[in-house]
Amino acid sequence: MKVTEYFEKAKGKSLISFEILPPMKGGGIESIFKTLDPLMEFKPPFIDVTYHREEYVYKENKNGFYEKASIRKRPGTVGICTAIMHRYGVEAVPHLLCGGFTKEETEDVLIDLHFLGIKNVLALRGDARKFETTFVPTEGGHSLSIDLVRQIKNMNQGQYLDDNIENGQKTNFCIGIAGYPEKHFEAPNHDIDIEFTKEKIDAGGEYIVTQMFFDNSAFLKYREKCKQSGINVPIVPGIKPLTKFYQLSSIPRHFFVNLPSDLSKEILKVKDNKKKLKEVGIEWAIHQCQELKAAGVPCIHFYTMGDSITVRKIVEAIY
Ligand code: FAD
Repeated sequence: MKVTEYFEKAKGKSLISFEILPPMKGGGIESIFKTLDPLMEFKPPFIDVTYHREEYVYKENKNGFYEKASIRKRPGTVGICTAIMHRYGVEAVPHLLCGGFTKEETEDVLIDLHFLGIKNVLALRGDARKFETTFVPTEGGHSLSIDLVRQIKNMNQGQYLDDNIENGQKTNFCIGIAGYPEKHFEAPNHDIDIEFTKEKIDAGGEYIVTQMFFDNSAFLKYREKCKQSGINVPIVPGIKPLTKFYQLSSIPRHFFVNLPSDLSKEILKVKDNKKKLKEVGIEWAIHQCQELKAAGVPCIHFYTMGDSITVRKIVEAIY
């Protein structure tokens, strides 16, 4: 079923969903099941699986020189999606990136997904690779997620890249896109970022999943601004509990989000006590989720980062 159909069926009740990362290359699918098994009793209708573009690494060659090599550290997104659907009987939502794919490769992946019975995708641009300061598109690939959304939408209408294909089979993907309550870091300002988001919706985006945030007022303002801009699709808040002291600086640095003063102060008070610190982060997330539920969000999307114990505590407290 489509993600948006689940939202409609829930009739105002907030669902829950989880996001997982593929294991590092060489790791097994068991790590995915270990994360998800304890969470499935909460009946998530869908589970997102992230995609990770190739990265550059420097490898020493026989002559002692370092050579730049391109590797993918976390392959397996499509395989994991299929395994999830098979094991749990729920929808799996692969993240699809512009980066790392030509348009033809994107088309081929979409054909595979369609044949596998995957009905939902989250269309994203991707970030800059390690050792690059800005996002560099793959030659022959898309530069912005809106173009990826358009390509998927075209395939939903039976239009493939090759004009010679007549009566191409129509895919039927429900397309999710990313949204940023605290603005995407490259956008000149909040309003323009929302205008671009509206364009993505007009191009075929059917729901929004947001970047993590720790201040609900940022999300609620964002939701309101989206509404005023004519964005009427479901907006799903992304929640990540803060559980480690270093995240006080790493989260703002990597995700360009603010940590509210109250949370930061509480974390600083218990910075030498790992257990207490985790409790503070979990309590904060529980409070966030309770407010978001009361605000009628269609779903709360947890960034699990493989930590099912923490996520379980939060979900148990709110459902
Ligand atoms: P876009 O929508 O393409 O936007 C990129 C920038 O361009 C923004 O600043 C936007 O304001 C601007 N822009 C948009 N439209 C236009 C236009 N028409 N003209 C000019 N500028 C424009 N990354 C991964 O690598 N793998 C993942 O699995 C992954 N999952 C994610 C899941 C969620 C829910 C979120 C929120 C992010 C995820 N990301 C992931 C990170 C994402 O790839 C980055 O945030 C990336 O920098 C932007 O992606 P986007 O799809 O929002 O880009």
